[in-house]
Amino acid sequence: MDTWSGAEETEEASPSSVCPICKGAGFVHPRLPSGKPDFGRVIACRCTQKELDKERQTRLQRYSGLDLELLRSMTFDNFDWRRVNLLPEQRQNLEQAFRLALDFAKSPDGWLVLQGVTGCGKTHLAAAIANYCLRAGKPVKFEVVPDFLDHLRFTFSPESRVSYDQLFEEVKNALLLILDDFGEQSTTPWAQEKLYQVINYRYNARLATVITTRLALDEIDDPISSRFIDPRISMVFPIIAPDYRSDRRSSQRAKMEYRRGGKGRRG
Ligand SMILES: [Zn+2]
Repeated sequence: MDTWSGAEETEEASPSSVCPICKGAGFVHPRLPSGKPDFGRVIACRCTQKELDKERQTRLQRYSGLDLELLRSMTFDNFDWRRVNLLPEQRQNLEQAFRLALDFAKSPDGWLVLQGVTGCGKTHLAAAIANYCLRAGKPVKFEVVPDFLDHLRFTFSPESRVSYDQLFEEVKNALLLILDDFGEQSTTPWAQEKLYQVINYRYNARLATVITTRLALDEIDDPISSRFIDPRISMVFPIIAPDYRSDRRSSQRAKMEYRRGGKGRRG
């Protein structure tokens, strides 16, 4: 290999843009106790490590599916549980949801089901968990359920760049999976079956999962809802805060936005 011989020519002069430690080889030979380089071994140079970290971050970002700027901007730092116009019990409930989500992000384990009306903050918290993990360098997959099923269906098209198996396995086996907007998917038998397969597999494998839904548990099909409510693995947290857009009722601009964007399903 090219880089190998490059590392051995350590005496060669190099342009200033090249790493002074490895001279651009990307790796170095560790030193033996005698102080001489151990030419039988190689370790990554500091400069490569930085590059690898950056690459890894880019890969994690791409893998996560957090491709929308809006989702990427939703963090714990900018989650407002003190929202104006909330009743004390609603504020307390929202703070509790915030703490739960933050704890989950710190050590993802089991399932967390966040339930509540559109605009209550559940998608923000779910995205905040994803962003928190990404920043910590941990892989996470964020899927909006109806979009996931659309993508899955699209893999059958000849234009698709990923195969059905690839996408399905990636989501099924993700170390941490976030399923946003559960219940908004089409109810075709095919879609139901695919979703059930993902949920059931992750249930049996005890894989960390976050689910957001505006459905009540009795509105969810039994084989799936029975997994959501299994206390050995899952915690269901109902958020009782109303749609955040109702907080700004006094503002004329907010009213306009509400009328224009009020039908959005993201909550
Ligand atoms: Zn270097």
